[in-house]
Amino acid sequence: MKSVLIVEDEDDMVEIISYTLKENGFSVLSAKTASEMWEKLEDNKVDVILLDIGLPDESGIDVLKVLRRQGNDVPIVILTARRSDVDKIVGLELGADDYITKPFNRYELVARIRTVLRRYVGHKMDKNVVKLGKNTLDIESYTATDENGNKIEFTKKEFGLLKLLISNPRKVFTREEILDRIWGEDFFGDFRTVDVHVSKIREKLGDSVIKTVRGVGYKLGEI
Ligand code: CA
Repeated sequence: MKSVLIVEDEDDMVEIISYTLKENGFSVLSAKTASEMWEKLEDNKVDVILLDIGLPDESGIDVLKVLRRQGNDVPIVILTARRSDVDKIVGLELGADDYITKPFNRYELVARIRTVLRRYVGHKMDKNVVKLGKNTLDIESYTATDENGNKIEFTKKEFGLLKLLISNPRKVFTREEILDRIWGEDFFGDFRTVDVHVSKIREKLGDSVIKTVRGVGYKLGEI
């Protein structure tokens, strides 16, 4: 059974969509805020996300950008009440698979979901490959390929650090946390080890790939 995560803050809307989807053989999860959505995604298998643009804590557009930057290629259908949003979604090519404007026909929604699912199965991404801006990272070989197909090589630690940040794109890591996670608790180096590795990664992928959070540590940058 395919599962759909409805990210929408209006109760009536969630109720009607979830009723329709269940009736059509889908299993349904829902989240009322972006932060609730991140939690649901961590703990559940989700095949399609129905994403409302107007969420109380964050714009659906920002959520979409972060998901795609993480390399998450789950099919996403945008729900929006405003025609102007549609221009934005289409114009910016943010990686949504489809959109539907409110108010919509319930059966049209089901048809759209089935279509994006079918398309998705057709070109399922290799899970060991992650898109990071213009670069493609190959998790198995610790390498990246830039937009021109040139190979960028990393040491195992550099790659581990990068992967840690990519897997938690919203989290700021302290140097201590990074040392523990990548070097292990028995490591006797100091925090500058982390700084050195961060600058090596920046040399290879550009300064903006990792953001320095003053007084705290590092997080994945805007790419
Ligand atoms: Ca809303």
